[in-house]
Amino acid sequence: MSEIPQSLPVHPRTRQRLHELSVKDISDSYNDTRRQLFETLQSLLADPGDTIEDQMNTLIKNYQNLCTLQASSINLTARLANAKDSFRSLCEQCDPVDPLTWYQYASGELMAPRLAALFQEEQSVSKETRLSREDVLLSALKYIWNDPTAMIPDEQNDDLYIEGGKIELHCPITYKPFETPMISKKCNHVFDRLGIENYLHGYPSRDCPQSGCSQKLTMSDFQEDDLMKLRCKIAKVKKKPAKTEALDVI
Ligand SMILES: [Zn+2]
Repeated sequence: MSEIPQSLPVHPRTRQRLHELSVKDISDSYNDTRRQLFETLQSLLADPGDTIEDQMNTLIKNYQNLCTLQASSINLTARLANAKDSFRSLCEQCDPVDPLTWYQYASGELMAPRLAALFQEEQSVSKETRLSREDVLLSALKYIWNDPTAMIPDEQNDDLYIEGGKIELHCPITYKPFETPMISKKCNHVFDRLGIENYLHGYPSRDCPQSGCSQKLTMSDFQEDDLMKLRCKIAKVKKKPAKTEALDVI
C-alpha cells in the first residue's frame, strides 16, 4: 500500500496560490500585431510595388496565424478557469485531510480531484463574435485579394452566402465606380455618397433605391463602408498593368 496519496483536496490556506495560477495575458501583443498588419495592408495598397502579390499573400498568412494563436490563447485561459472552478468545488466536497483521512486518500478509499486531469478535459469555448474594424477587413482579405468582387461567407449566417456570387463595385444610382461608398445600416445596400445624397435630398425619408428593397431610409441610416472601400482599392491595384519586360529590352 502506498503511503503517499496520489492527490489530496486543496488546503484552504493554499487556495490563494490556486487563484494566482493563470495564463499570462498577452492580448496587448496580439492587438499590437493586428494593428501593425493593418498598417502594412494600408501602405501596401497605397504604394503597390512589383512584389505586392507575394507581400499580400504573406500578410494574409500572417493574419491567419495570428488568429489561430489568439484563439488558442483564449481557449487555454478558458480551460484553466473552468478547471480551477471544478477543482475548487470538487475539493469542497472532499473530506478534509487529517492523520486518518491521509491514509484513506493514500489507499484510494477516498479520492481527491487532480487539477491536471481536469485541465486536460475538452472544453467548448464560446467564440468571440464581435470583430474590430481591423479584423473585419483583414479577415476579408483572403476572399477579396484574388477577386475584389467575391462574396465573403458569413459564419453566423450561412443562408446569406451564395457560392460564386459577385459584389458590384459600381454605385447603382450613379453607375460609376464607388468613390465614397456608404452602406445602409438597415438593409446593407451600398451607394456612393453623392448618389444617395442627391436621391434623398428634400425628402424626410425615402424608399431604398435598390430594386426590390422597400426600406425607408434617411441619410443618418448610412455609414461609410470600409469593406467596399477596400474592395475598390484592391480592384484599382489589380487593374494597374503589370510592368512589361520591354523596358529592360530597350
Ligand atoms: Zn435597401
